[in-house]
Order: sequence, then structure tokens, then C-alpha cells
Amino acid sequence: MTVPGTRTEATAQPAWAWEEAEWRRHVERVRAGRSLKPSRWPGGAKAAVALSFDPDHETIPLRDGQVLPGKLAQGEYGARVGVPRILRLLERRSLPATFFMPAVCALLRPDEARGYTERGHEVAIHGWIHERNMELAYEDERDLAFRCADTLEQITGQRPVGIRTPSWDFSEHTLGISRDLGLSYDSSLMADDDPYEILSYGEPTGLVEIPPEWIRDDAVYFNMDRYTAVRPYTVPRQVLGLWRDEFDAAYAEGGLFELTMHPHVIGHRSRMVVLDELLDHIAGHHDIWYATHAQVAEHVRQPSALPAEAPGR
Ligand SMILES: [Zn+2]
Repeated sequence: MTVPGTRTEATAQPAWAWEEAEWRRHVERVRAGRSLKPSRWPGGAKAAVALSFDPDHETIPLRDGQVLPGKLAQGEYGARVGVPRILRLLERRSLPATFFMPAVCALLRPDEARGYTERGHEVAIHGWIHERNMELAYEDERDLAFRCADTLEQITGQRPVGIRTPSWDFSEHTLGISRDLGLSYDSSLMADDDPYEILSYGEPTGLVEIPPEWIRDDAVYFNMDRYTAVRPYTVPRQVLGLWRDEFDAAYAEGGLFELTMHPHVIGHRSRMVVLDELLDHIAGHHDIWYATHAQVAEHVRQPSALPAEAPGR
């Protein structure tokens, strides 16, 4: 049985039998370099807030070949109900956001994709049909990534500059493909709370990582599997407390608070309350810079934004 996340060109030997060169090679393939936590955020802001929404809609069941209307309707809710609610909330508060959108979703609803960029939000790559890149051959993963970038550009008129891989999976080829695409940043890796540079075999790649985390993802708290006895549903207001603590610590450290949400998850009534109250809490703080992921990447890659002595960790 193949354990998810283990598909590499690794030998058939168990890990405990690997030579040092082998385990070093796996670790060095994609690694965190310098911290890119800036000494100051634009406008003298103390901390940055980067909101993101992944409009996956129907692609979550579709990518697993689930094509029956029941499952698809749960995703359709995201487009029909979640997205309009989210856009109204962002507009009311004049906040920017990044929408990581599977190409199939953009093709199903081009007006939705265009609506994001027309409102000043960012649209970035999130797979073709939310495929699991770790299960793909190199040629397929590369082809889908380029088709996704081309599709989003054709529909929105803007070439994406960032990627969040579906489900944050990351194959041995993903970084190279993102470099070939000429992207500015990735938002799939979790080696820090704040932005950092991505290295490959010790060399800078030019790509900035805007790290997400499952802690700051709505899906893990609210999704449930009807067929298992364990239903890890979290009371929405408990999630509010958790995310508030994440923000408070980011603010105290002068860092980045990045949040990942999904219209078909956070878009429900009892959960939008949580997002609204969280944004109230954040708004009660001075000197916050609200930005898209692309804007964060653009800022932190400027040498003048970094501390005189790169902290490194
Ligand atoms: Zn997704």
C-alpha cells in the first residue's frame, strides 16, 4: 500500500536502511531558506493580514470521480451562497483577498472568476480539477499547471503569479513546475508562520513561500464524514477563539496572519458570524496591512523590507 505523500523516486528500501546521502537528498529537495519576515510592513504597519478563499466548489467530489448530484450540490452551495456572502463582507470592510481557484471552477463560472479580479482581488492557481499532484506523472502535473495558468489568464485577463496546490499536496516535481511557470510565490508549504524563501538543494529558487497551516483552515474544523463514527465537527465559536489567538500572536510578533477558507465551508450562516467577528477583532488593532498574497510576496522580496541582519532561523 502506498502511503499518501510518499510517492518519490525513492528506492524500495525502508527508510531506516537508506544511506545518509539518500535521506539528505529528500530533505534538501525543497527547504526553507531565509526568513522573509520584514522589519516593517507597508505604511509602517505592525502586522499583515492575508485572507484567502479557495472556491473549490464541485471539484472536491469531482476529483475523486464522485459525480452524483448530492455531493455536487454541497459544492454548488459555495458558488451560489458562499461566494456572494463573502464578497459582500469583503466589500463592506474594503478588504482584499486572494482566491485560489481550480481551472474547472473558473470554466464552470467565468463570471465568478472575473468578478474577483474586477473587485480588485487576486485569482491564483489551485489545480485543474483539484487533482492530487502526488498521484500524477511529471508530464501530467506540468501540463495541468500550465493549462490552469492559461485558463485563469484567459478568463480574468490577468496572469496568475502564485499557486496553492490542491490540498497543499506537493510532489517532487511541483517546485520545478512553479519555477518554470515564472511564479512569484507558493502558498502550500508550512515551514514557518511568516514568509520565507524556498531553497532547492541549498540554492535560492526566487520563489517566496506564504505559509498556510491547517490550524488556520476552516475545512478541518467543519467538515465531517457521515460514514465514520468520529465527526470532528468544531463549534464555530471555538474556531473564532483559536483564530483570534493566532492573530494576536502574529500581531505581537509583527508577523503575518494568513487565513485559508472555502466558500462551501465558511459560507454557511453560523460560520460567517465567526469570520465577521474575527474581522471585528482584527479591526480593533492599529496598523494592520491587509493585502493579497501576491502583494505580500512582492513586499517581502524587496531587500529594503528585510531587517539589516537577516534573521535566519
Ligand atoms: Zn482546495
